[in-house]
Amino acid sequence: MQTDTRIDHPPAGLVSELTRQRTGLTVPVEDQVNESAFTPRRFNCERYYDGRIILCGDAAHGMSPIGGQGMNTGFADAEFLAEILAQPDPAALLPAYNRFRRKAASAAIFRAEWGMWLGTWRGRPLSMVRDLMLRFVLNQHFISRYLGSFYAMLNIPFNTLASVPQASLKPHTLQS
Ligand SMILES: Cc1cc2nc3c(=O)[nH]c(=O)nc-3n(C[C@H](O)[C@H](O)[C@H](O)COP(=O)(O)OP(=O)(O)OC[C@H]3O[C@@H](n4cnc5c(N)ncnc54)[C@H](O)[C@@H]3O)c2cc1C
Repeated sequence: MQTDTRIDHPPAGLVSELTRQRTGLTVPVEDQVNESAFTPRRFNCERYYDGRIILCGDAAHGMSPIGGQGMNTGFADAEFLAEILAQPDPAALLPAYNRFRRKAASAAIFRAEWGMWLGTWRGRPLSMVRDLMLRFVLNQHFISRYLGSFYAMLNIPFNTLASVPQASLKPHTLQS
């Protein structure tokens, strides 16, 4: 529920009332078991490591929750780190960590921002334009075939360790 200003502690019933006003749907207050406020962020650190300090998860990158990739991208960072930290010379593999994880985060950030942009058009005229776009453009078979996995972020590059070229995980093949 988008609001004009950030409301850290929404009064009981506010979400139900705004949902009713904007969509006509009834969301009973008693069904709301959890509520939290957030402000979307967008950043991707230039360097994910410096000396013995390594960034991962939200410390390294921030993105809109649309698409649900924040935690998943952090898990993939951790998976990559677990692999290289177990090797004899992890420092030699940190440039690969930086390169692949930064690229994956960058793709997720871009797509989340795209979804956020489209999802937060406000007001009746813009909402109608969005509905028409969804129905008559984005929902067309040839577009929706690709859009589904794009939106669900199923094809983020290097989103798991298995999709990283395995040679990059060996020190002697690294390019900085
Ligand atoms: C509304 C919303 C919905 C989301 N939905 C999804 C989703 O569907 N899928 C998904 O993948 N992601 C989702 N995310 C993103 C996800 O929640 C975050 O990306 C993820 O929780 C980040 O995990 P993290 O461990 O990197 O950082 P955090 O969860 O921020 O953890 C950092 C921890 O470090 C602690 N800490 C901070 N400073 C210090 C200190 N100095 N000393 C000791 N401890 C410290 C903090 O207290 C915190 O516990 C969503 C986010 C929001 C806001």
